[in-house]
Amino acid sequence: MLRAGQRGDLTPQGLGGAAPVTSLREPPPPRDTAPSTTKETEMTPKTWGLSKQDARYRPAPKPEVSCLACMWMFPRLARGSCKYVRGVVEGSATCDEFEPRHRGSGKRT
Ligand code: SF4
Repeated sequence: MLRAGQRGDLTPQGLGGAAPVTSLREPPPPRDTAPSTTKETEMTPKTWGLSKQDARYRPAPKPEVSCLACMWMFPRLARGSCKYVRGVVEGSATCDEFEPRHRGSGKRT
């Protein structure tokens, strides 16, 4: 029993034997920063990060794979912009970054 002026044991062990608290000043363990899969190393282009030449911009062989059917064109008019390819894009063109607006329509070229 504690008497007046006497301090009790307030450590975790003194309060029931819990595990000691680790210091908050210890640095965290190093993280593995290397990519673990090839999927992670495949880069998505930056916004307006591609020239037309980089994206192999070209006339679409069919409307299903044209910019008008691509999820990255805005607004979807005869001429518009693209999230990835710089400059004005034609609705009738396509490129290697084509992705259909609706699943099941068109396919990546
Ligand atoms: S097909 Fe290529 S250029 Fe056309 S909107 Fe899609 S990503 Fe942009």
